[in-house]
Amino acid sequence: MTSFDEALVIFNYPFFKLLRIAHEIHIQNFDEQSVQISDILSVKTGGCSEDCSYCAQSIRNGTKVPKQPLLDLDTVLDAASNAKKRGASRFCMSASGRCMSSEAEFDAICEMIRAVKAMGLETCATLGLLTRAQAEKLKDAGLDYYNHNVDTSPQFYQNIISTRTIDDRIKTIEIVQKAGIHVCTGGIVGMGETNEDRVKMLVLLANLEIPPKCVPINKLVKIPGTRVDDSNPIDDFDFVRIIALARILMPGSYVKIAAGRNTLSEATQALCFFAGANALFSSEKLLTVDNVKDGVDRTLFDKLNIRLIA
Ligand code: SAM
Ligand code: SF4
Repeated sequence: MTSFDEALVIFNYPFFKLLRIAHEIHIQNFDEQSVQISDILSVKTGGCSEDCSYCAQSIRNGTKVPKQPLLDLDTVLDAASNAKKRGASRFCMSASGRCMSSEAEFDAICEMIRAVKAMGLETCATLGLLTRAQAEKLKDAGLDYYNHNVDTSPQFYQNIISTRTIDDRIKTIEIVQKAGIHVCTGGIVGMGETNEDRVKMLVLLANLEIPPKCVPINKLVKIPGTRVDDSNPIDDFDFVRIIALARILMPGSYVKIAAGRNTLSEATQALCFFAGANALFSSEKLLTVDNVKDGVDRTLFDKLNIRLIA
């Protein structure tokens, strides 16, 4: 177990000492030149009753994301095939909502998982809160990863979301792990939280009974009409420090630079990779927000001699 005090001391190490330690841990656990690529598709969009202050899909925010019903299987498989062509090894299917209340929609998503898996891609889903029975059905469908972000520290959580608690999220994470599915869980930085909050979020993740297999760190994408769209952005070097601390606290987890990467310079991304980041999203869209444009990553990977994990 890592204490918050210990983690905060590490976070505040002199910058190059922090990166050196993180990099040494990274190369003990992973190939420093390899990065895992995922692609994500919103299979059901908008109209969400939760009040996540950062999210374009919440009906509580003044955003205008049109509701889109569950996509048909062929549309999903076309997107998965394009993702594979772009070098993705994992395909994530995201549905808006507190949880999957429609059994028919849940079964349709299980069908999507089976079909995407049959294409030779790892599968990931993010469907909100789950019951044990749902987690077991997802496992039977061949699901490899379930994304369920804790988003911030326990202390800051109610500032960001009031329609659920962080314990609700941790309960689903534990249900998913008990069903034998890898958990992908991380959070967002730049929503007005402090560095101490960011450290507390990572300590919470590192102290889970089973460390997450993948830790996505999202840099807030400011969406007009959301309640955090006027927050001070995180300093790039603090972002790199968070990546390094995630690596040090969770040596065997994939650390993913997730949303907001299109606002990071190539040099900042290179520092993140050196600090232990080894996973990305390749899609041009991340649900409802832009990601990096096609081809931009190929140029960066060539400059940094990065290989993709197949
Ligand atoms: N509805 C599912 C849920 O809430 O678990 C799907 C989550 S989907 C993967 C969206 C995730 O991306 C959220 O958990 C959040 O961490 C992140 N996200 C959403 N909106 C964001 C934004 N504006 N900026 C950065 N990250 C965002
Ligand atoms: Fe709904 Fe998920 Fe957006 Fe929260 S993050 S408002 S639960 S779609």
